Amino acid sequence: MSDRVLVEHIPSCDMCKRKAYADARIPDGPWANLCNTHFTMYGCSLGTGRGQVFEVGNADFQARADDAEEGASALLGKSGAAEIRALYGDDTDGFIADMEDFGLA
Ligand SMILES: [Zn+2]
Repeated sequence: MSDRVLVEHIPSCDMCKRKAYADARIPDGPWANLCNTHFTMYGCSLGTGRGQVFEVGNADFQARADDAEEGASALLGKSGAAEIRALYGDDTDGFIADMEDFGLA
């Protein structure tokens, strides 16, 4: 995972009900859906364990891709995962299909 999260619908800001910008952890506080204004106001930042920007997309596909990448990382180590990324790029379907062919997914 990274600094983005795919969702079917962008949720509302927990503070003001405007369109949320990110799911972020308020420093020394809880996680919340925050609009741009509140994200900045609370001094939030992006990254694993801190905050992810909402993006409309196919969450199922992203979850499968993440699972496949995690599986590859576990099997091959980090350098293996990097090689896979170099080979397949964004072709996660192709990667998953090959993983299935190898009986790894
Ligand atoms: Zn807000």
